[in-house]
Amino acid sequence: MYNPKSLKAEEFIDHQEILDTLAYADEHKDDLELVDQLLEKAAQLKGLTHREASVLLSCSNPEKNEKMYALAEQIKKDFYGNRIVLFAPLYLSNYCINGCTYCPYHQKNKHIARKKLTQEEVRQEVIALQDMGHKRLAIEAGEDPKNNPIEYILECIDTIYSIHHKNGAIRRVNVNIAATTVENYRKLKEAGIGTYILFQETYHKESYEKLHPTGPKHDYAYHTEAMDRAMEGGIDDVGLGVLFGLEMYRYEFAGLLMHAEHLEAVHGVGPHTISVPRIKHADDIDPSAFDNGIDDETFAKICALIRICVPYTGMIISTRESQSVREKVIRLGVSQISGASRTSVGGYTEEERPADTEQFDVSDQRTLDEVVKWLMDMGYIPSFCTACYREGRTGDRFMSLCKSGQIQNCCHPNALMTLKEYLMDYASEETKAVGEALIQAELQNIPKDRVREICRDHLEKISRGIRDFRF
Ligand code: SAM
Repeated sequence: MYNPKSLKAEEFIDHQEILDTLAYADEHKDDLELVDQLLEKAAQLKGLTHREASVLLSCSNPEKNEKMYALAEQIKKDFYGNRIVLFAPLYLSNYCINGCTYCPYHQKNKHIARKKLTQEEVRQEVIALQDMGHKRLAIEAGEDPKNNPIEYILECIDTIYSIHHKNGAIRRVNVNIAATTVENYRKLKEAGIGTYILFQETYHKESYEKLHPTGPKHDYAYHTEAMDRAMEGGIDDVGLGVLFGLEMYRYEFAGLLMHAEHLEAVHGVGPHTISVPRIKHADDIDPSAFDNGIDDETFAKICALIRICVPYTGMIISTRESQSVREKVIRLGVSQISGASRTSVGGYTEEERPADTEQFDVSDQRTLDEVVKWLMDMGYIPSFCTACYREGRTGDRFMSLCKSGQIQNCCHPNALMTLKEYLMDYASEETKAVGEALIQAELQNIPKDRVREICRDHLEKISRGIRDFRF
């Protein structure tokens, strides 16, 4: 029986509830009065339930769809302003004992080179990332308790935080590793991680078991209940996601929102972020072998609906998507993007992008400098900010900052100051010129006089070589 407060996967992601939701959505998708009511509710930033959201997803009326997109853009502007936070993934090890049928790191892939970074190699990778200008990483690893035990992951996190090359520093490490125990989550928390990210891949249990035929990841309940264990272990910023293409997108969309509702119901705080990866070609993986691929239009609608249904949750888009798709969805509500990513172990220290050991093909292959300039040319502020979690603003404390509307006095100046650091230390002359002008113009958009003055003072200090200011 469906129960969002239950700690059992099959009760908070109840299959019948999803089927009933899809039937309800089909029944009401042409009820334009209801659609309008839902849009009105969403406009008050109250969020929408999985059932309500599913009606909007099924609605095919062009005029109402335009309204959904416009509302998503509005909410994005009101809440997140024009800042886009940048990060990069760092692959530590591709050893894996799972059998995920969509991932080239699956155990049966015998021709892919297996690699696990030594601490010296972690150092080299981090220096390469710092030299690009990155301040925030998401570490990635296959699941292999012998080759990549939790102690290895913790050691890598320590190494990453300890490296200060020139003016560089990694100030926030997010972690995307397999579902683990409460005790291990506690250790990750103690190591100072930011968000714990785990993609559900699919919420459809039967498909999940087929797509993960072997290895510990086969256990649907253990995987689906991971975020509850993470929260029990003290991690209050967790990131959800499904791998679009594996199952029917309407099913996944309802499941994703039910998962968010469950976290809110049990822990009083929803997911910090939602990621929206789509399946990509990789070594021995052909995405056309999966029949549930979604086109760019549907993808954009899903992004817009996530924005209006969970307005306080950040949304992440990776370099799996091309520049043009990213352009479209950033406007609709994405708050974080990766830049200049390499998805193979040791990829950042290679001159050429290694194609044979990537976890997936990267569509957006531009440099970080190009991405930063592109964002600014579109009117966004690229942000390297990591202040919230370093100031203890995680979980519901971050949510209250969001809800109180104080973001403009906090995240906005932080974005400007970290952009200034980037411009001073890493940008090309062209990017620097665009950025300096942007900072001057955006200073005016800090509402409080006092905060604006402090920010101006910090910017001046940054230009004299002092680093790491934050509100
Ligand atoms: N092994 C960990 C786990 O089990 O969650 C870490 C995750 S993996 C390094 C990162 C994510 O990449 C996966 O959760 C999956 O959604 C995604 N991924 C795997 N294969 C992919 C492919 N062919 N195309 C796009 N994304 C893929």
